[in-house]
Amino acid sequence: MTTLDGLRGAMNAAGVDALWVSDPANVRALSGFSSGEDGKVLVTPEGATLYTDARYTVQAQEEARVPVHIARPPETYRDAAARVKGQRVGFEAEHLTVAGLEALREHWDAQLVPTRGLVERVRLVKTPEEVQLIREAQALADRVFAEVRPNIQAGVRELDVALELEQGLRRAGAEVGFAVIVASGPRGAMPHGVASDRVIEDGELVTIDFGARLNGYHSDMTRTVAVGTPSEELRRVYNAVLEAEEAAVAAVRPGVKGGDLDALAREILNRHHLGEAFAHSLGHGVGLKIHEGPSLRAGSEDVLEPGMVVTVEPGAYLPGVGGVRIEDLVLVTEGGYEVLSRTPKERL
Ligand code: ZN
Ligand code: ZN
Repeated sequence: MTTLDGLRGAMNAAGVDALWVSDPANVRALSGFSSGEDGKVLVTPEGATLYTDARYTVQAQEEARVPVHIARPPETYRDAAARVKGQRVGFEAEHLTVAGLEALREHWDAQLVPTRGLVERVRLVKTPEEVQLIREAQALADRVFAEVRPNIQAGVRELDVALELEQGLRRAGAEVGFAVIVASGPRGAMPHGVASDRVIEDGELVTIDFGARLNGYHSDMTRTVAVGTPSEELRRVYNAVLEAEEAAVAAVRPGVKGGDLDALAREILNRHHLGEAFAHSLGHGVGLKIHEGPSLRAGSEDVLEPGMVVTVEPGAYLPGVGGVRIEDLVLVTEGGYEVLSRTPKERL
């Protein structure tokens, strides 16, 4: 989906003639090849080439939008060597292993330059086709949540809730995007409490964070639901997080900085004396990776643009008491925003 045109500008700015792409999501973005972990892309002034091995001859031919070269290392490096001779070749410093870099040094007569985030920068703004894939992934997750919600009851284990969500996603043709978080009662104080064998009890809040991966693209949503009637304190925390979440979503528009949205949500939680309890950043971009740019963390200078897809997910975590997180998946539009996650939020 990602065009090479956008990448050229980033490569020029980084002062490289060519780029050796090893990050699986970047390989997929540039080539269309869905087994990015078993491929590499070499971008040169002439164009891009996908390198993968003979296990993928048929798949690569079906999927790739760029020429494919089937080989295994070290033959891969030898073929690429001719294309990069004498050039400044960027590699992905945040992904390529030391061994991978040594192999390039051994085979290439080229100047190797560490780069950061070149393809990631192009991936920040989604094409209409990518937005559609994310929209479909989220719609599927919304349907699965609606099926499972009635079964989130006292006496049920967190694991069973997670299993039902996972089965629903798989049955609908998606992959499970990441380990499903089901954190009930006091476990709700753990922002990343993956489902355990704890039995949900009456009067508890349960935080559920899960996502589908469909055609490589992720969805991401969190809902905190009440089982029975939670205490006054839990409801107070829930409503404060909901207020912060809705205010931050409503402030999403082109031109706003990620850090400003984080500050807005944090300000509201501070007012409810929950600033300390909001232990993570407000949100992140979503696409081929579940966590990508732009960043909606404190101080982030990332500026929102139409076509970006971000999460807005404030939370409050109180050790020994419980926790709340509410997360929506939001598309930045020309006029502001569109919320892609449609699962209703409970009013407590
Ligand atoms: Zn999430
Ligand atoms: Zn998230």
